[in-house]
Amino acid sequence: MSKEKISVIVPCYNEALALPYFFDEISKIISDMADYDFEVIYVDDGSNDATLDVIRNRAASDPFTRYISFSRNFGKESAMLAGMRAARGDYAVIMDADLQDPPAMLPQMMALLKEKGCDSVGTRRGNRKGEPLIRSLFARCFYGIINRISKVKFIPGARDYRLMTRRMLDSVLSLSEYNRFSKGIFEWVGFKTEWIAYQNVKRVAGKTKWSFRSLFGYSMECIIAFSTAPLSISSYLGISFFVISIIGALYIAIRKIIDSSTAVSGWASLAVIILFVSGIQLFCVGILGQYLSKTYMETKRRPDYIVAETESKNSETEDIK
Ligand code: UDP
Ligand code: MG
Repeated sequence: MSKEKISVIVPCYNEALALPYFFDEISKIISDMADYDFEVIYVDDGSNDATLDVIRNRAASDPFTRYISFSRNFGKESAMLAGMRAARGDYAVIMDADLQDPPAMLPQMMALLKEKGCDSVGTRRGNRKGEPLIRSLFARCFYGIINRISKVKFIPGARDYRLMTRRMLDSVLSLSEYNRFSKGIFEWVGFKTEWIAYQNVKRVAGKTKWSFRSLFGYSMECIIAFSTAPLSISSYLGISFFVISIIGALYIAIRKIIDSSTAVSGWASLAVIILFVSGIQLFCVGILGQYLSKTYMETKRRPDYIVAETESKNSETEDIK
């Protein structure tokens, strides 16, 4: 009987320093899990350091290595997508190149998947130790909000490190949206998922690509991708203001009837009210704009990434020669 194959997908953006450590780790796992066949797909996300050279060298000497190289940086989501599309295995697992998703956990994840008969094993951070307080606070708020307004459940601290079966992978790939938010997509497709919590580990080398600002933008994209609740904010606010204005009008009229000498004064409060209401209006137009811009990008149907080179493209061109 032929062995089942595991496709390991590794998005890499400027990981030349971390990759040699990763190679060592993954080789260990491949020899430990001799019951399985492997392919390791490195997706070079338009790195501007020596990442591609490091991967090419590895491909030349290691039979398990495959790679895809993008024409520029398209982001981790695109890199994961390219890797998943290229995967030929019966199972696929996505892991970071910086060893923050310890490859050593793979045997345990595989065992759990087999034992529970589920389609996916996800990993989540056990705690947020070593992270700035404000970031943890925002993360908590984010999960609170998104889980309230979205039908899809988001697991706090879930990482992209995830093992899945072929049928789950195929359903993830069947979603053709352009603004991809994988954490949500994995939940959206359903199937039974088991979770393993683990301690946060520091990246082995190089720097994280996330700033507080980019994380904030990422969470906004998630909300827009998986909920339309913000769109109804304007309707609710509109109704509330309408009701308040009726009450206000009645109050003024009744006061006038009771005591006709009272003049309604106070332009300052009026100015504040006008500013308040117009502020809310602009805010709501802004929300509309966010959804419109996403819809606009979707209708363009641009490809998610452009591939500049793969291991087979290289050999094909050699064949032609
Ligand atoms: N990554 C990528 N494209 C990007 C940014 C990051 O492929 O535009 C990869 C990166 O090389 C790493 C993984 O995504 O393997 C996670 O990135 P990082 O370690 O910066 O994120 P963190 O672990 O800090 O959340
Ligand atoms: Mg990392």
